[in-house]
Amino acid sequence: MIRISPPSQAGTVGKPGSQFSGTAYPYVTLPSTDGVTINNVVFTPGARTHWHRHEHGQILQVLAGRGLIQSQGAPTEVLHQGDTVWIPPGETHWHGAAPDSFMTHTAISLGTTEWAEPVSDDDYTADVGFEKETPA
Ligand code: MN
Repeated sequence: MIRISPPSQAGTVGKPGSQFSGTAYPYVTLPSTDGVTINNVVFTPGARTHWHRHEHGQILQVLAGRGLIQSQGAPTEVLHQGDTVWIPPGETHWHGAAPDSFMTHTAISLGTTEWAEPVSDDDYTADVGFEKETPA
């Protein structure tokens, strides 16, 4: 059956806490339904998730700003408005804002999410090419 979640019922603002470093505002727009959870997350500059992985993967759609994402053992990559990202099942990663920009994304998470340790400042700033980009 179709279910419409109105803003009064969805729109739950999570407190910045154990899943984030810095200040981020996750708005739950679809509470877990048949294994799918949708959040809109606003990250302030420098804010990012802890390391984590998604049981069946995750799709990110970058709505605004500029962000960063990294899979464990891979280089950090820059996210831009309009980008869509597929994160495979079980791949440990983090995502968040660039140091000098807000970033808002829609996160469509499949299955459960397993949270781990915070992303260190060293990891956050490693291999990042953002400083080579010219801001618009
Ligand atoms: Mn994720």
